Amino acid sequence: MKYYSTNKQEFGVSLCDAVIKGLASDKGLFMPESIKTLPASFFDEIENYSLQEMAFVVANAFFGEDVAEDDLKQIVFDTLNFEIPLVRVSQDIYSLELFHGPTLAFKDVGARFMSRLLGYFVKSRGLSDVNVLVATSGDTGSAVANGFLGVEGISVHVLYPKGKVSAIQECQFTTLGKNITAIEVDGTFDDCQRLVKTAFLDRDITQKRFLTSANSINVARFLPQSFYYFYAYAQLRKIAGKNNLHDVVVCVPSGNFGNITAGIFAQKMGLPVSRFIAANNRNDIFLQYLKTGEYRPRPSVSTIANAMDVGDPSNFARILDLYQHNHAEICKNIAGVSYSDDEIRAGISECFSADNYLLDPHGACGYLALKEMLKEGETGIFLETAHPIKFKDTVEDVIRQSLEIPDKIKAFMNGKKQTVPMSKDFPDFKSYLMNV
Ligand SMILES: *Cc1c(COP(=O)(O)O)cnc(C)c1O
Repeated sequence: MKYYSTNKQEFGVSLCDAVIKGLASDKGLFMPESIKTLPASFFDEIENYSLQEMAFVVANAFFGEDVAEDDLKQIVFDTLNFEIPLVRVSQDIYSLELFHGPTLAFKDVGARFMSRLLGYFVKSRGLSDVNVLVATSGDTGSAVANGFLGVEGISVHVLYPKGKVSAIQECQFTTLGKNITAIEVDGTFDDCQRLVKTAFLDRDITQKRFLTSANSINVARFLPQSFYYFYAYAQLRKIAGKNNLHDVVVCVPSGNFGNITAGIFAQKMGLPVSRFIAANNRNDIFLQYLKTGEYRPRPSVSTIANAMDVGDPSNFARILDLYQHNHAEICKNIAGVSYSDDEIRAGISECFSADNYLLDPHGACGYLALKEMLKEGETGIFLETAHPIKFKDTVEDVIRQSLEIPDKIKAFMNGKKQTVPMSKDFPDFKSYLMNV
């Protein structure tokens, strides 16, 4: 399968090049040239597949031409070594729990898949010593670091702002050791991002070191997110019964819109989802686009659902491309909604007391949207994108109870913190990269 750029200046790019480059040279996002429809026989029997088997069928449609079958199977099976259960929350509302991976957030799926696929290309192309640079304000760093942990031939350097990341987040990427180095930058997240961007442009470094990024727009992180939409539907059919399911609505708490776009890919492959809802916090750029037909990015504002504090969603370009920029067609398939912090808190509280289900602030947007917008006869699934413990203070404040820290997090917290201290000045980072 070849990939083209949403800016249409680059096409015919191999999967390997698209994965290694991340962003196209014309600054567009890579898209597969075609989206294969899966056979009716697959959907007829979908309840009989395990998560891993089902994901392999989907992965084959995307990557089967470019990755040897046994290797692809291994990559998929290794990636999904945890459950993604669908849980009934109320009458017609279900939660797809995407937080059972190593760092308790949905980004584990894409990060684990990408690390293994990149490892495969590194090996098959005989590359050695590939350096992945990633700047993080918290969650991305932990998913990427854990995804790449132990992958041969690849070293990961996670840059994060000293003192500006919660203890629970920090321990998830500073205690790993092996091929993961945490770099504690005396500066802000923006400084970390600037150091990474400058390194990619520095000829001394790029001549000596093979650098790549594990950015969320990478096709190897983005496409695997379609796997679990199929699994959600299969579980729903098991619970509700094949004949009782008519209109399935999927609601996705959205920031950069990668997750929801992967869902739309699944729909194009034949998954019977009747429509999507993109749930936003107060950063409602997409909702405004739906209402006005005009896309107006603006600086993000901070909210309690901070993984969705995005003012210029990067995957919007992919949505436009999928619909040939047709606003009316986009509105037909995707609805939008936005919630304030107070509404999100009220959602967590209501769901906890009425339905006995604990939401994180992102999932709460999804739950609220289904409560508000689900129509008679529709069944709704929202994606619960992170474990509530990741937002411990906010959630405890709302429900007035303390939460127990899961063993997975405790294990990280017991590890020894090891970091490389770094100033925010580029020459220091350059000398680090030249000498690692
Ligand atoms: C990254 C993230 C989101 C937003 O996902 P996008 O693919 O960027 O839309 C939502 N919730 C959580 C918990 C996240 O970490």
